[in-house]
Amino acid sequence: RKRIAVLTSGGDSQGMNAVVRAVIRTTISRGCEPYVIYEGYEGLLKGGDYIKRMYWDDVRGWLALGGTLIGTARCAEFKERAGRLRAAKNLVQAGIDAIIVCGGDGSLTGADVFRAEWPELLKELVNSKQIQPKDAENYKNLNICGVVGSIDNDMSSTDATIGAYSSLDRICEAVDYIDATAQSHSRAFVIEVMGRNCGWLALMAAIATGADYLFIPEKAPNAKEFGDKMCKIVARHRENGKRKTIVIVSEGAIDSDLKPVTANMVKDILVERLGLDTRVTTLGHVQRGGPAVAFDRLLATLQGVEAVDAILSLTPETASPLIALNENKICRKPLVDSVKMTKSVAEAINNKEFAKAMSLRDPEFIE
Ligand code: ADP
Repeated sequence: RKRIAVLTSGGDSQGMNAVVRAVIRTTISRGCEPYVIYEGYEGLLKGGDYIKRMYWDDVRGWLALGGTLIGTARCAEFKERAGRLRAAKNLVQAGIDAIIVCGGDGSLTGADVFRAEWPELLKELVNSKQIQPKDAENYKNLNICGVVGSIDNDMSSTDATIGAYSSLDRICEAVDYIDATAQSHSRAFVIEVMGRNCGWLALMAAIATGADYLFIPEKAPNAKEFGDKMCKIVARHRENGKRKTIVIVSEGAIDSDLKPVTANMVKDILVERLGLDTRVTTLGHVQRGGPAVAFDRLLATLQGVEAVDAILSLTPETASPLIALNENKICRKPLVDSVKMTKSVAEAINNKEFAKAMSLRDPEFIE
């Protein structure tokens, strides 16, 4: 019987619990044994009680809950070969040769590094007599499958990451709250939202709340004319009788010189050039909070089922899959390619030539 383990790693997101639930129950349905690994890669390195057999009832009520009940961590040691060697030993000792990793691009990069190294790690464990040669033969291949849990929606090759729509919902709710007070006092609010290198949350929130202006990493404003366009647009909205101003700033926003655009910089401009009574609100971790919205529950469940089926259909020749969503269909993509593409997008955004080219592109997102 195959033992399939699931772990959550990197930043938490709503819907991770639904993934774990779906993986565990599907594994049982397919006649296999499900395991969880607590605390992401940290638990893999610790082994022992951190790797636990799970049963159907263990995940009752997990579908909607935010965060991850099996814990997540950032684990520096897993980035080192010595750490991964220990992880390999723990997995072989627990009799597990398939892992479903639910995390962001960092976690999935780590998973792929681990998979590629696996035969070498086993050889080293046999040579140093930490495992038996027959174990190395029995666990020849490590089967890995990635499911993307991230509020940022920053993974290439999938249309939506698990948690992104819940987080977007939290942001919209918060902006709606702020709207009322902004309107009352005729104030401007600069709202910083999460997203790391990716402006998806900020862009979607700006559209969904009808914000006046927006700063995202993918469209750097021209450093030499910083704030000019925003002021022109905000001033026009005010002339048209609007009593409130909402500007959304993505946490990774940069200008065409790649300098960070901060909420405070934007606030100072609104105060100094337009004389607006302006406040900054950093939404912070409330964006990760609360239950998963229906879309994330569905996505997590469908992708959890597909992840187990992908693991069971893997042959030594197939590349590790990443479970994606493309045009509303759940599908499998090569994990390595998705990770590579995601990296190259991040590199492009942090390239001066690209930033300059984007800063010259019109029209503005929100006029
Ligand atoms: P996310 O998965 O949300 O992008 P991180 O980038 O922090 O979060 O990655 C989570 C964990 O994945 C790291 O703490 C580390 O243990 C592992 N990891 C990330 N990158 C690598 C890598 N290049 N090699 C091995 N492990 C990695």
